[in-house]
Amino acid sequence: MPQYQAVKGARDIFPEEAAQWKYVEGVVHSVASLYGFSEIRTPVFEYTELFQRGIGATTDIVGKEMFSFQPDPNGRSITLRPEMTAGVMRAVLQKNLLASAPLHKLYYISELFRKERPQAGRQRQFSQFGAELLGASSPAAVAEVISLMMHVFESLGLHGLRLRINTLGGTEDRMRYREALRGYFSNHHTSLDEASKERLEKNPLRILDSKNPGIQEIVSGAPRLFDYLGVEAVGDFEKVLFYLGERGIAFEIDYRLVRGLDYYSYTAFEVTSSELGAQDAVGGGGRYDGLSRELGSSSDIPAVGFAVGIERLLMTMEKQGLFAALTPDAPLVYVILQQQEYSDHAMRVAYRLRKAGIRTEVDLVSRSMKSQMREANRVRSSYALFIGENEIGTGQYTLKNLVTSDQTTLSLDAIIEILHEPAMKEYVKS
Ligand code: AMP
Repeated sequence: MPQYQAVKGARDIFPEEAAQWKYVEGVVHSVASLYGFSEIRTPVFEYTELFQRGIGATTDIVGKEMFSFQPDPNGRSITLRPEMTAGVMRAVLQKNLLASAPLHKLYYISELFRKERPQAGRQRQFSQFGAELLGASSPAAVAEVISLMMHVFESLGLHGLRLRINTLGGTEDRMRYREALRGYFSNHHTSLDEASKERLEKNPLRILDSKNPGIQEIVSGAPRLFDYLGVEAVGDFEKVLFYLGERGIAFEIDYRLVRGLDYYSYTAFEVTSSELGAQDAVGGGGRYDGLSRELGSSSDIPAVGFAVGIERLLMTMEKQGLFAALTPDAPLVYVILQQQEYSDHAMRVAYRLRKAGIRTEVDLVSRSMKSQMREANRVRSSYALFIGENEIGTGQYTLKNLVTSDQTTLSLDAIIEILHEPAMKEYVKS
């Protein structure tokens, strides 16, 4: 075994898989632009307090999963970002972006870090794409964000994903509900596990998230948040569902779906794939109007967003055979030298072709002509262009179509003319 291995929970992406990533990222960029979202990139690390405030000290992420370190002996602790929302909100507040325009529609494709136990679909370094709409969280804004996410899935050809949706109501609705839950779980106190007992003290809503089957059974008899909602929250939710229905987006209402953090309110949603096994969540999101205040803003900034795990999305696509037609970029032309002494000339020809926008390969390891031909076929080059004494003397080159075996002899300019069109088309496709 080689001496050095990738860190546990992190993985390498080799060219064939990188082509899949590039394809998915391309779809994300183009769908985001259809909806008028612009890309934001924030630093990979932030001050630790941002996540403590912005995700919540009682969550697993902040409690156990952050990679934090102190760069200077007396300096402030910093943390590799475990999610994007807090950093995006921090960036927008820091730049006071909402003063210049009331609405910001942002999206990202980013690497994240969580100290979780690695398993299938769960890594310590992973990636998400997501969107954050800041400055509005009306039902129309919520529907826009959900539509953008579902549009990406649809453009990728995914099927069978389940969109579950719920409303958490406003702060007062949840306060009423929290008390009801506290009463219910207190009556089952002896059957609760340690984590749930702790959550009962701090935030009983989070018990609903428990994966423990025993707790899930108790949860199944718990009061429903929906029964504690006021008319305003119900009306808001119905309007979101109306928009989704109108767009033909299939959803299931799941009254048990919650996001345990105080600043989440109203609509929350999650997307799962039955193709994924235990870690079946592909993405999720919701409204988080209260986050800005948590991060020091003097007012609530209406906000709604989602995040989708790209590794899990790719796993689902793989299972559904959606990458079958996808191959890494093959060269259009392989420049083949009949003898090594023509190498300088071949390099010049290759360079000219590339400057003309044509994907070109040329031998760099002094292969024999036969093995250059073998290599051209292996990398599935469409054409071979031969360089020999004759070609150099006359400036006329033999171009062979490696699929049909047809060949012609032409000047380099004429060859560029012929190859340019398909080359550009293929370039756009990839
Ligand atoms: P969250 O930010 O926890 O709501 O996660 C959003 C999505 O990111 C999940 O639905 C997963 O698809 C993905 N995700 C979260 N944690 C991990 C992880 N450790 N490894 C891979 N994907 C993850």
